[in-house]
Amino acid sequence: MGVTYFLHCKNCGFNKKIKLGVGFFGLEVPEQAQKDIESGKLGGEIKSFYDSLENPQVLAQRAVYRCAYCGDLQNIPEIFVRGENGEVYKHVYRCKKCRKADLEIVDTDDKLPSLSCPKCGKELEIKDIEAWD
Ligand SMILES: [Zn+2]
Ligand SMILES: [Zn+2]
Repeated sequence: MGVTYFLHCKNCGFNKKIKLGVGFFGLEVPEQAQKDIESGKLGGEIKSFYDSLENPQVLAQRAVYRCAYCGDLQNIPEIFVRGENGEVYKHVYRCKKCRKADLEIVDTDDKLPSLSCPKCGKELEIKDIEAWD
């Protein structure tokens, strides 16, 4: 079960689709995340942590990230690697757009909070919500 939010900026016309919830990725996310770690796509830091563990476990879930520098919004998975003794590494993304800052996770525990437009800074409105299962 999950929800897709269609965000719209009245001021500049920016549109963004954000998918949240469990089930969207199903089991594909951890598998995809694991592949991306092993191939080095997610960088050397998470890979060396992963490689240092006997039985690493990859955890991933749908998330929304915002760049602290340029305000870009990215709907990408939050990825953790966990070891048998409770060691945890949380992956940190660098903003793909400006490459000047790390992305910060947006708290979406209950629902999508008010987000500001990455282009003009005005508040985005939720134009439509679509539920899927
Ligand atoms: Zn805007
Ligand atoms: Zn940025």
